[in-house]
Amino acid sequence: MKFIESRGNDGQFPVDASFSEAILAPMTSFGGIFVPAELPDLGVDFLKNHVDSDYKALAKDILNAFEVDIDPAVIDEALALYDEFDDPKDPVPLVKVKDDLYVSELYHGPTRAFKDMALQPFGVILSASAQKRKENYLILTATSGDTGPAALETFKNRENVMVACMYPDGGTSDVQRLQMVTEDADNLKVIGIHGNFDDAQSALKMLLSSDTFKAKLKEKHIDVSAANSVNFGRIIFQLVYHIHGYLQLVRQGAIELGEKVYLDVPSGNFGNALGGYYAMKMGLPVEKILIASNTNNILTELFTTGKYDLRKSQLIATTSPAMDILKSSNIERILHDMFGAERTRELMHSLDTEKSYELTTEELSKLQNVFVADFCTDEEGTAYIKDTFAGGYLMDPHTATCFKAYETCRDKPLKTIVYSTAEWTKFSPIIANALTGEQGTTDKEALDAIATEAKVEIPSMIKELFDKPIAQQAVINKADIETEILSFLD
Ligand SMILES: *Cc1c(COP(=O)(O)O)cnc(C)c1O
Repeated sequence: MKFIESRGNDGQFPVDASFSEAILAPMTSFGGIFVPAELPDLGVDFLKNHVDSDYKALAKDILNAFEVDIDPAVIDEALALYDEFDDPKDPVPLVKVKDDLYVSELYHGPTRAFKDMALQPFGVILSASAQKRKENYLILTATSGDTGPAALETFKNRENVMVACMYPDGGTSDVQRLQMVTEDADNLKVIGIHGNFDDAQSALKMLLSSDTFKAKLKEKHIDVSAANSVNFGRIIFQLVYHIHGYLQLVRQGAIELGEKVYLDVPSGNFGNALGGYYAMKMGLPVEKILIASNTNNILTELFTTGKYDLRKSQLIATTSPAMDILKSSNIERILHDMFGAERTRELMHSLDTEKSYELTTEELSKLQNVFVADFCTDEEGTAYIKDTFAGGYLMDPHTATCFKAYETCRDKPLKTIVYSTAEWTKFSPIIANALTGEQGTTDKEALDAIATEAKVEIPSMIKELFDKPIAQQAVINKADIETEILSFLD
């Protein structure tokens, strides 16, 4: 299967790319991103044949349907990482929480957030592809707290890949920070930036446009790649769990094969929801995809009015920080799939230059055939956490946003899969506050309080963080980032 460019081809870049080319060098013409030239059609038989498949077998057959140019042995090695999840037989449990609402728990991997679902296998595949071509790659990432730990964990000590990870000092939870600064490997560099997530991100952009930095990379024969969800290598693994969740409903006897369901996705950069969209296009019986946001409700505005408007929006810090996003990168892949490359280029150009675009009425109705969106305030989220806990289920504030969409966005009584994207351990002060009313606790106190209150165990990889030595000391000003990374490369 070939990958093409979302904004069309400018005559400089190749007109298409293989899977391995697309994941190693995700840059394309006109600042676009790679999209599959066409999606494989799985058909009902595929679902029927996989009702009894385990997660790895399902993932393998989906990768095969995309005809990825990766050695089967490498794919096996990558998928074997799901065996390290809490329950190798069931790495992504589906739990009935109430009525039609089932939660697909995507957080049972090493860093306790759903980023592991894709980044774990992606690390193996990217490193193997770089080795095969005898090339070296630097992954630069700015993180608000979940991508950083997952990227460091997957690339730790892997050949031909280095990672430089920037996080806002004071802008992540203690657990998230410790997950990063206790990572100790020669190919990893973690840097705290004085400032917020935007500062970390603009530091990264500054770096990428610096001539001395580019010259240094060239001299060392290092190319730059990306580990965020603009990289299709992440999206392909995010298709799998949507299909898996559906098959779990069939296995549990909650639905008949072929019955439609709602997918309810807590969304930021839209990689998770895009995986659901592709799965639907490939034949998964989905009624609609519910897009849950927090007070940064730019996606709700898009799906209800057809307007994407950054001019009047300012980023608000919420209790679901992984969804504090205004520019949601993977919307571009939806635009391409629905409206084609030329229109995507026009819309994205308008967003880049005018900070806004507006869809036509016909385009909006096409979008609304698939998606319906609502946002959840912090107060509402806290109430959902509290009420749901009273009903016997403990969840994190990102997952909580889906409960609002579950209540407001459905018009049929169909089974609904809510995606839980983080374990309670990653955002414990917010959850402790929701459960006990107590404010201003540290992560450590909050973890203990919740463990006692909910009678749950703190998993060992979280508990151990507080005793591990700090391996990554750098906390610097944005202006010093280039010097810091150049000395790491040396
Ligand atoms: C990354 C993340 C999200 C947002 O996922 P997208 O694929 O970017 O929409 C939601 N919740 C948590 C906990 C995350 O880490």
